[in-house]
Amino acid sequence: MTNRQWILVSTPAGALTSDHFVWRESPVPSPGPGEVLVRTRMLSLDPANRAWMNGPSYREQVLPGDVMHGFTLSEVVESNASGFAPGDLVDCMGGWQDFAALPAEALTRRDNRQDPAHLIGVLGVTGLTAYHGLFDIGRPREGEVVLVSAAAGAVGTIVGQIARLAGCRVVGVAGGPEKCAWLTGELGFDAAVDYKAPDFRKALRAATPDGVDIYFDNVGGTVLEAALWAMNQRGRIVCCGAVSGYDKRGEAYGSPLIPGILVTKRLRMEGFIVLDNAMANTEAEAQLAAWVAAGQLKAKMDIVEGLEGAPDGLIRLLAGGNKGKMAVRVA
Ligand code: NDP
Repeated sequence: MTNRQWILVSTPAGALTSDHFVWRESPVPSPGPGEVLVRTRMLSLDPANRAWMNGPSYREQVLPGDVMHGFTLSEVVESNASGFAPGDLVDCMGGWQDFAALPAEALTRRDNRQDPAHLIGVLGVTGLTAYHGLFDIGRPREGEVVLVSAAAGAVGTIVGQIARLAGCRVVGVAGGPEKCAWLTGELGFDAAVDYKAPDFRKALRAATPDGVDIYFDNVGGTVLEAALWAMNQRGRIVCCGAVSGYDKRGEAYGSPLIPGILVTKRLRMEGFIVLDNAMANTEAEAQLAAWVAAGQLKAKMDIVEGLEGAPDGLIRLLAGGNKGKMAVRVA
């Protein structure tokens, strides 16, 4: 048996292409003392994967020669650590490969009874990001207006649906009329606005006649700027990510409106990293699972079949080719 791997061969200077990766087959690693050998079941594809190539951030940089870093749902194959046994399902940074030998502290056990696609999506980093960002940072009140960007993506689809469950009016921002129609038709958003359309700002104003109380920002850049104009006094901006800038190394993508508009509108703008503490929130996971089980929260997935498709999947994700959570089914 071999360990199939995707290696990053060079740091992209602009848009990511498949030439930035090379396929390699290596021996399966042996776990050392205190380590666990895991096999990747599902590999999460995240816009952050691209941002990790640009330099150190809240975590280490992915460097040329590295097995591409990636968050995985993996199965324990062999264990030299107490507390883990073959067959256990775990969350870890398994990377873009079949097998990894990791210290036990780097693994988080998951519930084998849940659907693996849910564990990597709505009940994993994605769902907890949406939940923590909306409820702990945005603090919505019934009747408020929530605007969310990258609304048809992994985090955005969940933010929009759970904000509606909290009694808010929800407006999504997404690329293209088809995604916008999907948000209102399939996911129950109250309105959706296409940021690629020439009349985006006008359409945003029309979709938010009472202004915006919470803007859940997944993209930064010009969409953030438009959202700032739409904010009501004492509104909250949840800074979750800035995907509009990840694939354009070196280009500025901040808003010149900051800090002036924050002052005049008395806005609160706050960033967060879900891995800091929200992952341990079992209450959030239980609530998300209950909503899914009750049919109140749709967990939309965009699954790539096979590890071979990981680079093309990430490239498609960055170009907005996904609806819902993108992940690779590896085994
Ligand atoms: P998505 O599934 O939303 O995929 C990214 C989406 O971004 C694409 O589908 C595309 O949709 C949109 N997009 C791409 N380029 C642009 C652009 N220039 N302007 C506007 N939209 C663009 O990914 P995730 O849900 O996984 O991640 C969403 C955000 O959340 C990212 O910024 C990510 O880094 C962040 N995140 C943050 C976490 C945290 O702890 N803070 C944890 C997890 C994710 P479209 O067709 O609409 O353009």
